[in-house]
Order: sequence, then C-alpha cells, then structure tokens
Amino acid sequence: RFITLEGGEGAGKSTQLRALAIALRARGLEVVETREPGGSDGAEAIRSLLLTGAADRWNPRAEALLFAAARSDHIEKTIAPALERGAWVLSDRFLDSSRAYQGMGDLSDADILTLHRIGSDDFAPDRTFFLNLPNGEAERRAHARDGDAADRIGARDPAFHQTVADCFARIAAQEPDRVRRIDASGDRSHVTQRLMEALEDLLP
Ligand code: C5P
Repeated sequence: RFITLEGGEGAGKSTQLRALAIALRARGLEVVETREPGGSDGAEAIRSLLLTGAADRWNPRAEALLFAAARSDHIEKTIAPALERGAWVLSDRFLDSSRAYQGMGDLSDADILTLHRIGSDDFAPDRTFFLNLPNGEAERRAHARDGDAADRIGARDPAFHQTVADCFARIAAQEPDRVRRIDASGDRSHVTQRLMEALEDLLP
C-alpha cells in the first residue's frame, strides 16, 4: 500500500510518518519511509536544485516541472519497486503538495494534474492523510521547536497558509475515499492512533 502524509509546515508530518512506520512494522509489514521532493538518487539531486539558491532561482513553471520530474523518478526507482515486492510505502508529501504549492499561482490544479499524467501516469496513493492544525498552532509549535522553522513559517503571511489549507480541504472533499483529514492537535500518540484507525480498512 502507498500512503502519503500532507499538511502545512509544523503539522507533524515527519514525526507521524516515523510513528506510523513503527506501528505498521509491529504488525509484521515491511515499511519504506520516503519523502518529497527526493526519495531516489535523481530526485534528491533535483531536491538540492530546488532548495538551494535564491528563492526566485526558478520561475514557477520551471519549479513545477522540476517537482514533477523528481516525482517521476521517485516513483519509478523507489515507490513502485517497493510496492511490487509487497512493502508499504509512506511518503512525507507527494502530488497533493504540488497541487497546494505549485498549483495555486501561475499554474492551475488541472495543469499540475496534467504534469503528473505526463511524468507519472496518474500514479496515486491508496490513502492520503491531511494533518490538520487549528490556525496559529503550527507557528506556536515551530517556535517551541527551532527558530529556523519558525522563521520559514513566519516569512509567509497567514493568507498563504490559509490558501494551502483551503486547497487541501478542497482535495479532501473531492476524493473522500483516498483522502482523510486528520486532527493533528493534542498528544502525538493520539494522532498516530487516529491515523492507524483511518488505515484499518487497508490493513491485512
Ligand atoms: O516537507 P516540509 O514541510 O519540510 O516542506 C517545506 C516546504 O517545501 C513547504 O513549506 C513548501 O513551501 C515547500 N514545498 C513546495 N512544494 C512541494 C513540496 C514542498 O513548495 N511540492
């Protein structure tokens, strides 16, 4: 099974991904943990192109194409082979992040989906979790954790975070079978429990 975790920064995606992997391994499953952008040799090389240099190093269309290229390689080299041998794959971000971040400016949601069809043949997760935090909670968590993350989040205005959250909410409403919104507030072990409950129908 292919499971993706999405949500804004500070929602706890990477923490929950690790906890979910441990819970699934405890059930005897092989679990591969991966992330976007990256997750394969070529995609990690693209990741460093995307994450280094000035913020405006890439124009929005070039950036969307790089994300799509990275995803194509990530699927072919890492995700598909793992699924073929029966492993579960958990990815920290996937296509829905591109729909939320690259698909709300120069390019539309339909454009991002077209790039995904060309790059990856519409390859889709079996389930996607949107980790949902009340307004302001992500910023509070980031401040409590490390200044860098807080600066990154703070550098963007609240309207930006709201647009990203709205986009995730829209996708969840459109695809209720694949996408589940999960309350990411409160104790981290409770969040993991919510995720496991929302996977129950896919477990062997
Ligand atoms: O995964 P993480 O929360 O560390 O992502 C950091 C940032 O990378 C996000 O806030 C977002 O700005 C950016 N990103 C993006 N498009 C993607 C994935 C991530 O712009 N498809």
